[in-house]
Amino acid sequence: MSGPLRDAHGREIEYLRISVTDRCNFRCVYCMPPAGLEWLPKSDILSYEEIAGVVAQLAPLGLRRLRITGGEPTIRPQLERLVEMLRSIPEIDDISLSTNGLRLPELAATLRAAGLDRVNMSADSLRPDRIKAIARRNTDFDPIFAATAAERAGLSPIKLNVVVMRGINDDELLDFARLTFEHDWHIRFIELMPVGEMRELTWERVVPSDEILERLGTIASLTPAIGPARGNGPARYFRLEGALGTVGVITPMSHTYCGSCNRVRLTADGRLRTCLYGDEEVDLRTPLREGLPLEPFFRSALATKPLEHQLLQMRVGGLRALSQVGG
Ligand code: SAM
Ligand code: SF4
Repeated sequence: MSGPLRDAHGREIEYLRISVTDRCNFRCVYCMPPAGLEWLPKSDILSYEEIAGVVAQLAPLGLRRLRITGGEPTIRPQLERLVEMLRSIPEIDDISLSTNGLRLPELAATLRAAGLDRVNMSADSLRPDRIKAIARRNTDFDPIFAATAAERAGLSPIKLNVVVMRGINDDELLDFARLTFEHDWHIRFIELMPVGEMRELTWERVVPSDEILERLGTIASLTPAIGPARGNGPARYFRLEGALGTVGVITPMSHTYCGSCNRVRLTADGRLRTCLYGDEEVDLRTPLREGLPLEPFFRSALATKPLEHQLLQMRVGGLRALSQVGG
């Protein structure tokens, strides 16, 4: 057992998404039921020291990039402590955060000072009433203000993620895309995944990426673009003529990008999941708390990483909400 971490299909694993909590201060219609989910008991959740311990053992095996996610990671107290610990692991060269943005204006500078490189912020609407309806929260959240605060704090590049839902927010596609004329931001449109208990958001709500691109092309001509210099994941990027930033599509429903998938996930309770959509996971918390080396557990987890997910085969019955698996 030596050499870089590879799965059974030869893919090298260099990217880890770390969920630091399964809880959230929003209840987005596509992600969580109004009453929330059955939360993990606090004692099951890895401490920051334990998370950093997992990363420190993975880093010499090839791990280079980290994303802190949730649930909503910014509701976990003193998140900057974790960022500092991760930053001090020499092999790690990129640390990003996925957030709904609500707490970004107050936290961006602290997180940046602790060593955070960049953020991906969710933004499903630019209209105050609709933001409340989608997040199911009576909030004054202003996504433009939050993204600007992150940019001013030096978090770069700024990526905004829009989950597109037909009849709910797809009439704002062009408004979002126009933001790229004024800001060097990367606006990514994500195909809705009908997951978990969100039965009202059925396949009819999914807007395929080809249709999204066709509609964006009505504003200005759209040419393929390289996308942001850092963290080019599964999105395909384009630039509207004359724009500073880019628009992108992430297409879990209409195309798979499993062949180049180099990521694994650590759940808040310390399980390594090798595919967002499958049930393959290995418990790391028990060996970690017993002081055992984790490498054999990483390797056995990777041996089960599926070649591709089954969403397209419509085998969606068992999907867990993304907040539970570190979406
Ligand atoms: N709370 C943070 C946030 O909202 O960015 C991080 C966790 S959230 C689960 C991660 C990403 O998953 C967000 O961009 C969110 O929009 C996306 N997501 C959650 N449920 C989804 C669904 N059913 N379909 C598509 N994207 C989804
Ligand atoms: Fe919370 Fe993010 Fe899920 Fe919305 S998408 S409910 S912000 S975890």
